[in-house]
Parts: sequence; C-alpha cells; structure tokens
Amino acid sequence: SEAAERFTAANPKSAAIQEQALAAMPGGNTRTVLHYHPYPLRFARGEGCRLWDVDGHEYVDFLGEYTAGLYGHSEPVIRDAIKQAADDGWVLGGPTLLEARMAETVVNRFPALERVRFTNSGTEANLMALATARAHTGRDRVMVFKGAYHGGVLYFSGSPLNAPFDYVMGDYNDAEGSAALIREQGDRLAAVLVEPMSGSGGCLPGSGAFLQALRDATRETGALLIFDEVMTSRLSPTGLHGLLGITPDLLSLGKYVGGGLSFGAFGGRADILAKFDPRQPGAWPHAGTFNNNVFTMSAGLAGLTHVYTPERAVSLNADGDALRARLQTAIDDRGLPLAMTGRGSMMALHAGRTAPTSPPEAAQRNRRLVDLMHLDLIHGGIYTARRGMMVLSLPMDAAAFDTLAAAFEEFLDSRRGVI
Ligand code: PLP
Repeated sequence: SEAAERFTAANPKSAAIQEQALAAMPGGNTRTVLHYHPYPLRFARGEGCRLWDVDGHEYVDFLGEYTAGLYGHSEPVIRDAIKQAADDGWVLGGPTLLEARMAETVVNRFPALERVRFTNSGTEANLMALATARAHTGRDRVMVFKGAYHGGVLYFSGSPLNAPFDYVMGDYNDAEGSAALIREQGDRLAAVLVEPMSGSGGCLPGSGAFLQALRDATRETGALLIFDEVMTSRLSPTGLHGLLGITPDLLSLGKYVGGGLSFGAFGGRADILAKFDPRQPGAWPHAGTFNNNVFTMSAGLAGLTHVYTPERAVSLNADGDALRARLQTAIDDRGLPLAMTGRGSMMALHAGRTAPTSPPEAAQRNRRLVDLMHLDLIHGGIYTARRGMMVLSLPMDAAAFDTLAAAFEEFLDSRRGVI
C-alpha cells in the first residue's frame, strides 16, 4: 500500500538492520508482537516520553513498552537506583534487603496480595499462579477466555505453543455463560484466569457484573480466581481489582512494577502462599536464579516508592481518561464509525460505532484499519502498538497529548474514505 511505501522510503537504515537480523533470527525478530509490515522501526535511544529511530526520526512513545514503560526512558530516580545496584554487585547469590522491601511495598499496595513471590516475567508469574492453583485444589483444568493473552505460552488465539494445561474457554464479558461454565466444570476446575480489563485484546474493560459473576461462581465451586494484572495494575493506586473492589484469590503482576526491567510477581491469599514456605517439610519449590535480581528489585522499589506514588497513579489515569474522551470527540465530530475503548492510561481504537466487548470481536473488526492508523501515526511522529493500542507514560505533558491528537485527526481526515 501507499502507506507502506512511504514508510520504506523514510526508513532505509531500519531496512538495512532488518536485512542483517534476518540471518540470525526468524523474521529478524525475537518478539513477535513487535513485527509489522513492511518491517519494524529500529530504535537508537529514548528520553522521557520520546524515542529516536536509527534513521533519525523523533517519536512520542505511545507504545510505552506495552505498559512496562510507565516511567518513560531513563527516569532519573530509577537510573540512580540501577547505578547504585551496579556499584554494589549484582550476582550476590543470596536474599537481600531490597527484595524484602520490594515485597513489603507491593503487599501494602495491592489488596489481593497478602503474600508475594517474584519471577522474571509476567508469563512466568501466570504459569506459577496456574501451577499454584492446580496444586492447591488438586484439580487439573483451568479456565481462560477466548483471545486472551497471558504470556508467550499462554495465548488463547490458536497458538500451538501453549503450556500443556487442560483448558476450557469462556467468552469475555459473558457473565451468565461464564458462571454456567464454571458451575458445569464443578470440581474439575482448579482456576479461572482473567484480566480485569483485556489489555492486548483491545483495552476492553471487564464489566463489574462479569467479574463479580466469576468471583461468585468460583467461590461456589472451590476454583481459585486469578486476576492477571500484569498490564492493569497501573490503573489505580491499588490496581484495577482495588478500584473495582473485587478481590481474587491470586494475582499476577509484571511490566512497570519492576521499574522497566524484567519482572513478574504472583501472590495472593496467605493460606495458599504458605505452601511455599521453605521452612516446612514438603514445601512447594519455587526457584529462579534471577527472581530477586538486584537491578529489578532496586529499580522497582525506587519507582513505586518515589515516582509512581498513589497521587501520580490517580493523575496519570485522569490524563488518560481525558485523552480518550478527546480522541472520541474528534471521531464523533466527524461522524465516523470508530470507537475508543480503555480505562485510564490504556486505550485503543476500534472499527465500528460501538465498543467491542471481547478480544475475538475486536480482532475481527479491526485489522486493516488499525494497521493503517499505525503507519499513519508513525508518519505523524507517534509510535504506537500496531494493534491500535495507546499507552501513557509519566513524562507525557500537554505537548505530547497535542501531538497525538493532531496526528490522530490527520489520520481521520486523510482516511475518511476508507474508514
Ligand atoms: N499478561 C498480560 C496481561 C500481558 O499483557 C503480558 C504481556 O504483554 C503478559 C502477561 C506476559 O508478560 P511478559 O511479557 O513479561 O512475559
């Protein structure tokens, strides 16, 4: 298409590096989600909420490392914490004060976390949460939702690579059908794993009725309710479950909570996590060389303590609500059949006048339109996720929001004919 040709003409250095990368990685890629046609931009550096690619273009970064980039690039407090960790050695091979303080901080912050354990990624956190639920209940099967993404080996959209658990799938936001499925599964079902807002599925909020139905039905059958808040824990000072007032049995975290370094955590009810207490005979093992790596512990602790304070969580999400409304107004002023969805600092664009309510519905509607928007926004100096998702970071100011709004309006006006 003409948008792809314009992209190719503007990005010869990214093209050359892509060619080089093809020799060692399939598709020149080690993160499938970052690939797009004709080839992805290669980045040279970032600062605050801005990025520069190898061809010298500047972008406002609305991809925000898929929510892990909440602090922006080289945030000074976090940079100092990383430097301190580097000065003090980083393969200590023993527990540290840092991880004790990091654990205390997340336990105090997120109501569902009575106890916590750290991992290296959100994928691993979810794998551990599911394994914990299966061991705790003595049951095999787990329930997830069609189109859900919970990590590289937990992607319920036809991937042949998933961890070999026995799954059943519900429909996201179908309260009655999901509760019925949970009851029908009865004492075969160990856990229900769900994001309280589907993030990569298109920033689709789970309704209160849906999430409460999952809470009630799992309580009835003895399955554990696991909230994957790897993305959504940024949406309030107490995570999305804290905001909604629904407490799962287990919770997984990741992304920005580690200050922008590799991070995951799973935890929840103290009586369940107690099985990991290594002082008792028969304790469940949970290992991982880098679970308490000092860079992440130091960066995560500094970020939560000094940067993403409860006040800033409230203001960042208020900025996101205002921006989402602003983009929707731009759509409505033009009478176009598009809908913004999301909550707080995470949002996405969808084709159609009404918001989709499930990931498969969003995926079916959007494809061509969001691909086009992605390339048009890049042309307008805005870097976003290919699937139409936009994520805020703390360094963003009014100028950053104005740049996005201008590029978005330009996209709407120039593509009116195909929308
Ligand atoms: N869960 C959700 C909801 C996610 O969005 C992601 C990553 O995008 C993950 C889990 C996996 O986290 P990680 O990429 O750290 O393995």
